[in-house]
Amino acid sequence: KPVVAIVGRPNVGKSTIFNRIVGERVSIVEDIPGITRDRIYSAADWLTHEFNIIDTGGIELSDEPFLEEIKQQAEIAMDEADVIIFLVNGREGITAADEHVAKILYRTKKPVVLAVNKIDNPDMRGLLYDFYSLGMGEPFPISGSHGLGLGDLLDEVAKSFKDIEDIEYGEEVIKFSLIGRPNVGKSSLINAFLGQERVIVSEIAGTTRDAIDTEYSFDGQEYVMIDTAGMRKKGKVYESTEKYSVLRALKAIERSDVVLVVLNAEEGIQEQDKKIAGYAHEAGKGVIIVVNKWDAIEKDEKTMNVMTRKIREHFLFLDYAPIVFVSAKTKQRVHSLLPVVNQVSENHALRVQSSILNEIIEDSIARHPAPTDKGKKLRIYYTTQVAIKPPTFVVFVNEPDMMHFSYERFLENRIREAFDFEGTPIRIITRART
Ligand code: GDP
Repeated sequence: KPVVAIVGRPNVGKSTIFNRIVGERVSIVEDIPGITRDRIYSAADWLTHEFNIIDTGGIELSDEPFLEEIKQQAEIAMDEADVIIFLVNGREGITAADEHVAKILYRTKKPVVLAVNKIDNPDMRGLLYDFYSLGMGEPFPISGSHGLGLGDLLDEVAKSFKDIEDIEYGEEVIKFSLIGRPNVGKSSLINAFLGQERVIVSEIAGTTRDAIDTEYSFDGQEYVMIDTAGMRKKGKVYESTEKYSVLRALKAIERSDVVLVVLNAEEGIQEQDKKIAGYAHEAGKGVIIVVNKWDAIEKDEKTMNVMTRKIREHFLFLDYAPIVFVSAKTKQRVHSLLPVVNQVSENHALRVQSSILNEIIEDSIARHPAPTDKGKKLRIYYTTQVAIKPPTFVVFVNEPDMMHFSYERFLENRIREAFDFEGTPIRIITRART
């Protein structure tokens, strides 16, 4: 999907416009306790177009002087987006900071659409004329607070989408990525991976979207490793900032089937690790937890169990994810990762037989009766798998409201006991039978 970024100096209304464009997207997955959502990157759509949108204003680059921060945000947009919305404030006219942004954006070959915010009614259109002098083409009047003009703006933005095509890989190819905080060792792991005997790197494809995907094969299986941090061309100032690494992770997660969440054994588990892992779970991807730098810590025979328990406590929502302890440096157990990737990928795409599934559900109800409420009983009529990647089940019942989270969890666990869904989230949707 194309990526659109909103840039502009502070207080022109970037977040308001971002929220307007994203709208009220209702997530079908539960909120993960303890994880705050970063509202800097989201899926959005306009008419028949689907895209992702970034609010660069949400990427705070603390300690940077004002103009430097604006510059870095604009550079992130130029790196990450396919189309850029340059937002200015119609009521304040062109400021020095706007000119600063414009000057940076002149360097990009990507399409830039100029949007003039806070034009709340047609009488204010006179304010637009000044903005032609920014040299960014025709200014589009919008009002974030009133929700005006966004259709025309998005029409213009969408005109550039037709030139942007995502590379499509075959169904048989396993797409995976390594995500994690800066310095957990993602690049080192990739190099360790690719340096393995019998790994045949066929090609490093530069896609149309600046991502570098690495295609390779091992034991007859084809893989594409989706690059996250532009990992092979490091060095930008903002690359060590948290929000930026989250943004890169989100982009990679979206294109992957299986996500390897890399942790640093030396530093333990941090808030940001949970956040990044939470996105992979929410996106419904296969997840493997990889503990890297295993060589760097002192250990005895208990260390691995202690660490496993800690990870399970911190990542309650990832109780299905296998954990692998590796060292990119000594290559310890790096070879054992690919078989896990294969298995998780298979489980992520597993389709189960309806007859067996319903036997299991019936048996579960017999063991642990469905909830009742004021003399009424939840009746489960029929369960069916409606999708893979991730496996998604619809349970047809009399009263969907009576399906409690805990009972759903119970059913999920029973399904997991019966089939091999290790490494993949499962979604359960409760519907009234009509
Ligand atoms: P990235 O930002 O996640 O891509 O991390 P890098 O791959 O650049 O690694 C960050 C630092 O950790 C580098 O100095 C690496 O040499 C070091 N490093 C990476 N993997 C390991 C490991 O398995 N063991 C040890 N001791 N150091 C590692």
